[in-house]
Amino acid sequence: MKREEILDGLRQSPKVDVCVIGGGINGISVFRELALQGLNVLLVEKHDYCSGASSALSRMVHGGLRYLENGEFKLVQESLVERDRLLRNAPHYVAPLPTTVPVFDIFSGLGNGIVRFLGLTRRPSRRGAIAIKAGLSIYDFLTRKRALMPRHQFRGRRTTLEKWPALNPGIKSSATYFDAWVSHPERLGVELLQDGLVAKFGAAALNYAELRRTEDGRYRVEDQIDGASVAVEPALIINATGGWIDIANESLFSPEARPARLMGGTKGSHLIIDNAELRAALADHMIYYENEDGRICILFPYLGKVLVGSTDIRVDNPETVRCEADERDYILQSLAFVLPDIKIRPQEIVFQFAGVRPLPASTDSFTGRIPRDHFCTVVEPRDGGPPVLCMIGGKWTTFRSFGELAADMALERLRQPRRVATTDRPIGGGRAFPADVSVWLAGVATAKGISGERMAELFGRYGTDAEAVAGFIASGPDVALPHAGYSVRELEFLIREEAVEHLDDLLLRRTTLAVSGELSLDMMDAVLDLLAQEKRWTPAQCAGERTRFLTLLTGRHGVDEDMLSARNEPRSTTCETTAKSG
Ligand SMILES: Cc1cc2nc3c(=O)[nH]c(=O)nc-3n(C[C@H](O)[C@H](O)[C@H](O)COP(=O)(O)OP(=O)(O)OC[C@H]3O[C@@H](n4cnc5c(N)ncnc54)[C@H](O)[C@@H]3O)c2cc1C
Repeated sequence: MKREEILDGLRQSPKVDVCVIGGGINGISVFRELALQGLNVLLVEKHDYCSGASSALSRMVHGGLRYLENGEFKLVQESLVERDRLLRNAPHYVAPLPTTVPVFDIFSGLGNGIVRFLGLTRRPSRRGAIAIKAGLSIYDFLTRKRALMPRHQFRGRRTTLEKWPALNPGIKSSATYFDAWVSHPERLGVELLQDGLVAKFGAAALNYAELRRTEDGRYRVEDQIDGASVAVEPALIINATGGWIDIANESLFSPEARPARLMGGTKGSHLIIDNAELRAALADHMIYYENEDGRICILFPYLGKVLVGSTDIRVDNPETVRCEADERDYILQSLAFVLPDIKIRPQEIVFQFAGVRPLPASTDSFTGRIPRDHFCTVVEPRDGGPPVLCMIGGKWTTFRSFGELAADMALERLRQPRRVATTDRPIGGGRAFPADVSVWLAGVATAKGISGERMAELFGRYGTDAEAVAGFIASGPDVALPHAGYSVRELEFLIREEAVEHLDDLLLRRTTLAVSGELSLDMMDAVLDLLAQEKRWTPAQCAGERTRFLTLLTGRHGVDEDMLSARNEPRSTTCETTAKSG
């Protein structure tokens, strides 16, 4: 449904069962759950889908080894179950990640871990080999029945340095275990949303829209794209705005009915680094290491570059967070500690991003010790409005189980049965995933009349949804864009099918062009022209959009126009230019 159709539908029939506010991964997850049960559900997201914390994660799909030392066994167990489900349900984006922990001590951390577990101290400290061994043995024990990936193994100092010669020579040993990573978390969010939209006629979602309580205690959806304001009457509201939860509650409740503070988020930042020596030094592993101050940092190969992070700093408002200079220095210093001979030049930092972990309100003085678990609380109407179910906490890895929990509470409230389970339900391009990818690729490439190489590229980006993308590309004349592998028709498909409203939706979230550090100024302008044609923007709108994007890219992601321009060199392309007519 197009946004005008959604707004017209609401004008005719403002009653909905549930209005979900917040289109991060958790809001989208509960939206899909409820749509699958046949509920009339509306989602409103005030920016773009998955533009908050759900685009700022370390891209790990993990049990959370370090949460064991906080005693969060239930969370680790649940996360490992969800990690393994994602490996099956979204194999196009979620894959195993061999992870190596350099160990600098034998015994340290053990006593502290026990003391912390008993609640006698909250201070972080060095984790030695025995503490790491204990954690990894629990990890293996919790996954022993599924055993999708190999068990952990220890290496001595000599064999560790043989495999990773650039590691700090002060190490005593290393431990390797398996977790998983997600290549396109923002795309997975959009595909999850689409699964919800097709599940129930009438389920609808709007990005760039907000739900507001009016002075007379009613609710309106305010559309930022065309300025429309439409009344809506939800039986239940779900506040899934993550780090914004208290700010969103201010616009949902009268001051006297507003709940106490629920959220106490912490900011984390990451850098994407383009340095071949660093990339090679990882030997295709994630290095999960402890900085000198005891904070855990990560470093792993990501889309041909290296992702490094992250920090953990308390913030009150997630709206304008960015990686600040001191965080960048901290991350680079931690890198210099673990890989001392690798020098990173400023121009090798090709992208940076920051977001706010939606953690429950806490007075803990050490941010790393704030619980990472999730829960829901229902704020009852004291001012005549509908109940508001608030989703608090939640990792990316556990989005399905958190959405399921919130949906079950909503179903109980609305006296509706659960009809469909999502535990084994594939997501988007993870559906009908072929056992033999090369056979599948050859069959689709022949059927659609495009090259095997191009088909493989599309499969890497969209999983089995690549068949639909290829069908669209092949049904009209296509032109290559100034980036290897992208063409006009591929991006037209995304613009038409994936609720693209702004240039940043396309360049930051529907594609990995910006995060991978591959976006050039020529490509940006070519994509802007295309979007302007599709949206019928005037030259003034187009100029405004260009300024908006460059401001965002410079301010939030540390990439300015000169950096984009320096990437303008001609590249080879595998896109085909088809001669077929419309
Ligand atoms: C630095 C960092 C690293 C992390 N690493 C990992 C990791 O490796 N693995 C992992 O599993 N998890 C990780 N996480 C946690 C994970 O990213 C988050 O827990 C998860 O993405 C939260 O999703 P969410 O939907 O609750 O919040 P968000 O993604 O922040 O979504 C909330 C949405 O609500 C919208 N919104 C706000 N106010 C309103 C309003 N009034 N009306 C409508 N919409 C509104 C916002 O625009 C936003 O899109 C990390 C988080 C951070 C910050």
